[in-house]
Amino acid sequence: MPSANEPHTGATSPRKFRAYTAAHLDQLLSRAGLGPEERLAARAVATVLPFRTNPYVLDELIDWDRAPDDPIYRLVFPQPDMLPEADVSHIAGLLRSDAPRREVNAAANQVRARLNPHPAGQLELNVPSFGDGTLPGVQHKYDETVLFFPKQGQTCHAYCTYCFRWAQFVGEPDLKMAGEEGDSLATYLRAHPEVTSVLFTGGDPMIMSASVLARYVEPLLALEQLETIRIGTKSLAYWPDTFVGDSGADEMLRLFEKVTAAGKSLAFMAHFTHPRELEPEVVATAVRRVQGTGAVIRTQAPLIRTINDDPETWRSMWRRQTALGMVPYYLFVERDTGPQDYFAVPLARAHDIFQEAYRGVSGLCRTVRGPSMSATPGKVCVDGVAEIADQKVFVLRLLQARDASLVGRPFFAAYDPNAVWLDDLKPAFADRFPFEPALERV
Ligand SMILES: *Cc1c(COP(=O)(O)O)cnc(C)c1O
Repeated sequence: MPSANEPHTGATSPRKFRAYTAAHLDQLLSRAGLGPEERLAARAVATVLPFRTNPYVLDELIDWDRAPDDPIYRLVFPQPDMLPEADVSHIAGLLRSDAPRREVNAAANQVRARLNPHPAGQLELNVPSFGDGTLPGVQHKYDETVLFFPKQGQTCHAYCTYCFRWAQFVGEPDLKMAGEEGDSLATYLRAHPEVTSVLFTGGDPMIMSASVLARYVEPLLALEQLETIRIGTKSLAYWPDTFVGDSGADEMLRLFEKVTAAGKSLAFMAHFTHPRELEPEVVATAVRRVQGTGAVIRTQAPLIRTINDDPETWRSMWRRQTALGMVPYYLFVERDTGPQDYFAVPLARAHDIFQEAYRGVSGLCRTVRGPSMSATPGKVCVDGVAEIADQKVFVLRLLQARDASLVGRPFFAAYDPNAVWLDDLKPAFADRFPFEPALERV
């Protein structure tokens, strides 16, 4: 592995993609200066939560002089204290005594089951039955938008420690959802003319080659109802070579051009967590090339404790993105799954960070909305904290809702400085939230 200080040589000799996984973890953790006990604990965490990274993240993004406190290091490497201590020390004990893999997996599965692997009813949202059977990998939660999880897109160039889709990546078949290529999605959409937007997600759809992605995308281009194809991806941050140096880069860009030439808008939903991800020169080149196809890049990320939980981080991220012609879109609240206890920022603090960052940017960056919770009823935005009739309350609003009639209507919750998720909130000036069913009177 090249050292942290080796100069970037991407322009002349293209980097080769290579996935580093749990098998390489001990060696990589040594590079961060971790001692044997800490390494064992971090490896124990990696039996529960997925770990995967690549040479670009290691050599271009992480500042090894600052590891293990470096934000990008924390973004990809398991932390010894990310999970309950009893669980970590139990599994660390099994690893120390070289317990059979079966036993380690069983212990890891028990911990996973307690981490709310499918927040916001993810599995129940799969389109339950269509035609003769089920349509796996399709979620139709909002009238106009369908989420699609292509089967070959169920991994990423690297994993984020805070990922809310972590259960997709741990090799447990029951915890997965994935859709087949071909016409089945197009057939579903023909039967649902209200759908105008398809969102490819995963994993990271950009892990697929252009020819595989084309088998999913091309059948959609003939659908007149379809206005937008979105691709949710972290490739610009984790492997920008997808669009610059990789052998398939030009073919990928040609596929994007096909989409825009068909009169569809291609929205590239880029996940950027930290301003450092925008620094390498290759990112600006990749952004320009993607934009050159007519695609619009919108940006989003969750607010994560110890990684990006301060206003200046967001301000500089939004400004740099806007300077590169990208459009800031969402700041999310970390979901109630996986190591949420470790990464959560209370809603009150999240709102303060958002407001302070938002105040310091030009109107062009203020396309961003947040802090937003993607919860079962929809996307709930914390608009502010107010004092109404002597009561301190959160002012909330649904940006997206399964019941579209609720979108945009303000509602209130009692102020609670410790609340980290919608479930922690109690309605104010009402006996229920607007998305909750009215209680039957007896
Ligand atoms: C966020 C989200 C979408 C997209 O919502 P927009 O507000 O249109 O960006 C679609 N489906 C689900 C399940 C989502 O969480």
